[in-house]
Amino acid sequence: MSGAREFEGRSALVTGGSRGIGAAVVRTLAARGATVAFTYRRAKDEAAALVEKVRAEGGTANAHLCDSGDTAAVGELVNDLAGNGRGLDILVLNAGITKDQYLMMMSDEDFLRVIDTNLVGAFRFAKAACRPMMENRRGTIIAVSSVAAQFGIAGQANYCASKGGLTSLCRALAAELAPRGIRVNAVLPGFVDTEMTARLPRQVKQQSKDRILLKRFGTPQEIAEVVAFLASDAASYIVGQCLVVDGGLTTTVG
Ligand code: NAP
Repeated sequence: MSGAREFEGRSALVTGGSRGIGAAVVRTLAARGATVAFTYRRAKDEAAALVEKVRAEGGTANAHLCDSGDTAAVGELVNDLAGNGRGLDILVLNAGITKDQYLMMMSDEDFLRVIDTNLVGAFRFAKAACRPMMENRRGTIIAVSSVAAQFGIAGQANYCASKGGLTSLCRALAAELAPRGIRVNAVLPGFVDTEMTARLPRQVKQQSKDRILLKRFGTPQEIAEVVAFLASDAASYIVGQCLVVDGGLTTTVG
């Protein structure tokens, strides 16, 4: 059963929580009672403003500067938050970047940077968090992947590869961790109104909207609601799934 304070007494860690989808997840989990820690890499002012906003809404959130690419920093943060028996109930693997370019022009650096943030960063956090979760025989991990995991998008070889890897990682972790009481799932958003999609050329945005059955981009809150559902006890029998949330973008052909 889900309720207004369904995450009361639970701890959550959201990667890339300073803005966009991550910020909506932070606010949603905190509004429902979770004590939320979130990471950011650069957006210090947004992170501080979000902490204040959550506080004003009656919740608890703390911001941590932690680059998903820094294995030692990730380990230290998770240990600080969840070590010594404190535990971690909810891990949301959300931090992600794009560096779009056609293959012929894509540098090794831009390919590897996207893989490192979106895929290896998720691995780093999941690896660090699984120990405290296993000790408590309880926890849930939700990755924010993308429909790019399932479909080829020109100019996004790095991003598609990273998100395809992320959903595969989730399925493997689900198989490995379910026997230890930890549920792992992924959410696959389509186009969502954030800074990531604000960068797209106007024509690409319009063509994309035309292809979406609902004729609009999703809101960060519409993704956060699904993440919160998967984190909740209402989803206690959902394991290893990739839930598409795209307004019907990938439902039809032609
Ligand atoms: P966004 O508005 O660009 O926000 C990205 C967040 O990730 C920011 O908080 C950013 O922090 C953080 N981040 C990036 N690199 C990081 C790193 N190395 N270490 C720590 N934090 C880092 O993006 P968004 O649209 O909300 O996307 C969130 C997730 O949803 C991403 O994984 C993205 O791939 C996925 N997604 C988005 C869409 C969409 O249409 N927007 C669709 C499908 C999937 P700083 O600003 O501090 O660097």
